[in-house]
Amino acid sequence: MSTTTKRAYNFNAGPSALPLEVLEKAQQELVNFNNTGMALMEMSHRSKDYEAVHNDAVARLKALFSIPDNYEVLFLQGGASLQFTMIPMNFLTPETTASYVLTGSWSEKALKEAKLFGQTAQAASTKENNYRNIPSLEEIKFNDTDAYVHITSNNTIYGTQWKEFPTTGEVTLVADMSSDILSRPVDVSKFGIIYAGAQKNLGPSGVTVVIIRKDLLEKANTNIPTMLKYTTHADANSLYNTPPTFGIYMLGEVLKWVENKGGLEAIEKQNEEKAKVIYDAIDNSNGFYYGHATPESRSLMNITFRVTDEELEKKFLAEAKEAGFVGLNGHRSVGGCRASTYNAVPFEACQALANFMVEFQKNNQK
Ligand SMILES: *Cc1c(COP(=O)(O)O)cnc(C)c1O
Repeated sequence: MSTTTKRAYNFNAGPSALPLEVLEKAQQELVNFNNTGMALMEMSHRSKDYEAVHNDAVARLKALFSIPDNYEVLFLQGGASLQFTMIPMNFLTPETTASYVLTGSWSEKALKEAKLFGQTAQAASTKENNYRNIPSLEEIKFNDTDAYVHITSNNTIYGTQWKEFPTTGEVTLVADMSSDILSRPVDVSKFGIIYAGAQKNLGPSGVTVVIIRKDLLEKANTNIPTMLKYTTHADANSLYNTPPTFGIYMLGEVLKWVENKGGLEAIEKQNEEKAKVIYDAIDNSNGFYYGHATPESRSLMNITFRVTDEELEKKFLAEAKEAGFVGLNGHRSVGGCRASTYNAVPFEACQALANFMVEFQKNNQK
């Protein structure tokens, strides 16, 4: 692998950094895949070469997460945002209630879609606290008769992350894991459905991964459009219609990369080390920088922070950009700064940002 390619310090929130090794391998294989004289993108999704790629990606995902046999792995399109709709469309009715834990803008959007299909309740909300924290497990309220309980495992915009998941017993737990899937081990058996748009940790945009327990497929509503039924895709191994073949290939390569790094436990450790250098720069700044999230709810994937005064914050962002740091502006809905430190962002980039923060403080502290 060439190590001479100049890479940006990429802290984009999504689409975001991909591993250099994966990009270079894709480049090598781009024009002539497996000596077929074709790019993978040019092949039938029913061809042997493509099907091998497809099934390999499913198998690797199952192995990495130790996904039990009673789950299906689906590759869909429409992003996590279409899952906001598909979940209630398949599992909610006008007579039943789904409970949503509100921890940020993405959970609000998910709830909004559910209201179109049935009754909803707030299982908990931290909106009053400007979504600075994840509710404690004791605060979460739901009924045994609920169609499901929905959570957002990592709040990309506010920079908070669940450290422990609720136990919901017979009630199906559904999680939007778009921005922290593949960043740490997860006990899949706690969940009925896990879904994630690919463009944060899994690969390029265009693929959505859905991990769904098989018994739910049998219970799903039937009088809904074919393409929006989970059973359609489960029955066809996600090949009912043309899947995003290149995105699934890239996902498979990202999964191999995670395996080579030592799997999810090793990746989690690296993510902790990466986030720590930046959080340390915030915590050791005597208030020059301050985090948005409360310390116990801090995300290892999206680090949200402010600079003491607004003028200095603008200067910080401008100088950071000048120094080669990309994507540090906070989401347009909350402002401030955000460093997204997804799996593919190397430790060196995080260290460079922390050093830059310390240096900027030295030069600008009044
Ligand atoms: C990015 C993101 C989404 C939206 O994903 P799309 O694939 O663009 O629909 C939803 N939820 C979370 C937590 C996200 O980070």
